[in-house]
Amino acid sequence: MIHIFLRFFMKKQHLSYKDKVGISCSICGIILNLFQFIVKMVVGSISGSIAVTADAIHNLSDMVSSAVTLLSFMLSGRKTEYIAGFLISVLLFITAIQTAKSSILKIITPEPLVFSLFSVVMLTFSIIVKMYMAAYYHHYGIMINSQALKVTSTDCLCDSIATIIAAGAIVAARFTQLNVDGFGGVAVSVFILVAACKAAKDSAKELLNGNL
Ligand SMILES: [Zn+2]
Repeated sequence: MIHIFLRFFMKKQHLSYKDKVGISCSICGIILNLFQFIVKMVVGSISGSIAVTADAIHNLSDMVSSAVTLLSFMLSGRKTEYIAGFLISVLLFITAIQTAKSSILKIITPEPLVFSLFSVVMLTFSIIVKMYMAAYYHHYGIMINSQALKVTSTDCLCDSIATIIAAGAIVAARFTQLNVDGFGGVAVSVFILVAACKAAKDSAKELLNGNL
């Protein structure tokens, strides 16, 4: 998929190679995260899983991050990247707190999860897509030495783990009496919180260094 965009942007002579790769990766990121968001919102509402819905919202913020990264590669401006990065981390922080709150409520008053093969198949597919994303961000991040792409690669890997936990809760609800969805939700919100803190730290550091 990324090669299609690369071939298209290679024709744009005024962009540097680094920017072309960055733009192609970011467009892929926007499309694939939008896909992740839609799939997980559907599965989240079918299964009644808070963990999957939280994961969906996080992927929506990933899509915004990709858009910001895209903008920074297009403008070749560091300042926009860091200021926007900081704003995203604030949004992530709010998402994490709200998810944690509703997950804890689910632990106190659990609601039954609805198991369906469709949900598990869709989640498995979205995990594979996220792992593919982690691989290409890692590959191109090293190739063009971009911190933004390398950080996104790590995030994609964490996202895969979060989705595995959320999918695991749905499967566990089917085959055991265990309702671990609330705990899954807490785990996902911890993942989001860690991502928020890391993004905030990185952006603030660069801004304070005056490295613009
Ligand atoms: Zn993410």
